[in-house]
Amino acid sequence: MSDVAYQVVHDPAWEAAIASWRWEPVGLNAWQKSGACPHCGDDITIPYNSTLVLGVEEYEENPLIDVSCACSVAHPDHAAGDGCGRFGRIAKP
Ligand SMILES: [Zn+2]
Ligand SMILES: [Zn+2]
Repeated sequence: MSDVAYQVVHDPAWEAAIASWRWEPVGLNAWQKSGACPHCGDDITIPYNSTLVLGVEEYEENPLIDVSCACSVAHPDHAAGDGCGRFGRIAKP
């Protein structure tokens, strides 16, 4: 919805909703989850590509990733491409 104001906010409810979406494998070491942004209602896709490098132990990696709304809709006083500003931290696939 383009009438939702753009605001950079760590939103626990948004974060929990995104976390509940299922990761879908889309390639070698690549996953994504998609749906309607819980805040602005626009379609978003959250991509994740494993950057695990040979020799780097997986336990050294942070199990969480930062994600944010990246809808393609322009929100008031903000150009399209940055979503509605909601962000959170969710578990990797
Ligand atoms: Zn949006
Ligand atoms: Zn949004």
